[in-house]
Amino acid sequence: MRRLFGTAIAVALFAPALLSAQAFRLPTSNLAVQQPGREAEAFAPVPGRDWRSGMFGCVRSEGYRFHEGLDIRSLQKDKRGEPTDPVLAAADGVVVYASRKPGLSNYGNYVVLQHTVEGMPVYTVYAHLASIPTTIKAGARVKAGEAIAVMGRTSNTAQSITKDRAHLHFEITLFLNESFSAWFKKYMPGARNDHGIWNGMNMTGLDPLGVFQAQQREGAKFSLVRYIRSQPELCRVIVRDRDFPFVKRYPQLVDRNPVAEKDGVAGWEIAVTFNGTPIRLIPRSEAELKSKAKFSVLAVNERLLAIAPCGKLLKKSGSSWSLTNTGEQLFGKLVY
Ligand SMILES: [Zn+2]
Repeated sequence: MRRLFGTAIAVALFAPALLSAQAFRLPTSNLAVQQPGREAEAFAPVPGRDWRSGMFGCVRSEGYRFHEGLDIRSLQKDKRGEPTDPVLAAADGVVVYASRKPGLSNYGNYVVLQHTVEGMPVYTVYAHLASIPTTIKAGARVKAGEAIAVMGRTSNTAQSITKDRAHLHFEITLFLNESFSAWFKKYMPGARNDHGIWNGMNMTGLDPLGVFQAQQREGAKFSLVRYIRSQPELCRVIVRDRDFPFVKRYPQLVDRNPVAEKDGVAGWEIAVTFNGTPIRLIPRSEAELKSKAKFSVLAVNERLLAIAPCGKLLKKSGSSWSLTNTGEQLFGKLVY
């Protein structure tokens, strides 16, 4: 009896420590997201497809279109069949953006939270919301698990989200550039940006399910920095730019290079995932750079490209690789 009591206390003392090691919790009460075999209950597919099309990755249009988040199914409906699930902050953080104009984005109504994980600013995005309380506004602090909105099916797309597909679109992302608005104005003339730097185009996604599963597997040992750095690389690109905001924002993803430290930085070697998320950045000296081009492709993981082509970042002519317009846009945005 005494022993059991002791065990109970040990568990009670240990539990908060274990929980605090988890960077992110599930953003709704749909726990099937983390339970293998229950995917059909967890993810909302696109019409005519199975649950895989509600996951992160090259899951749309026969693998050629990227879906940058998880579409987590609604569990609660009102009598008209509208979703009523509370949407929960995935971690402690601060609201950086709440858009209540559903017609201005394919996200519909959406919220962006900023979190600090291992010293690194990381963001979560909650989209297609029905409503967002007035307390959820830029600068407001939120606690992990706090309700920040009600699930909905708002979007500005021609095809609306039907009641049976009601879901939370959830992303875990890194932020590309605080000069995004100026970049957008210059390179997307005529296009509207109603969301400033909190436009979805200025954030680049990680697989939230991969993060949840790694947390579950590794428990207190989980490290988001390590998780990001261990993602498969699609390619390495050299950019001819000495300095840009991302390297200051994410020093955890920068490798040291004594040559560049001594001789000065002339450019950066950047490794990205299949969807273009930078996962490793290496400063390079002038002597280490072969090309004078603004961007040059250094290495390509062709096996990964074959199974995950939806980032559409690269093209091949003869035996040489270069960036597509999409690829140039990504790196242009990053270093602008
Ligand atoms: Zn989605």
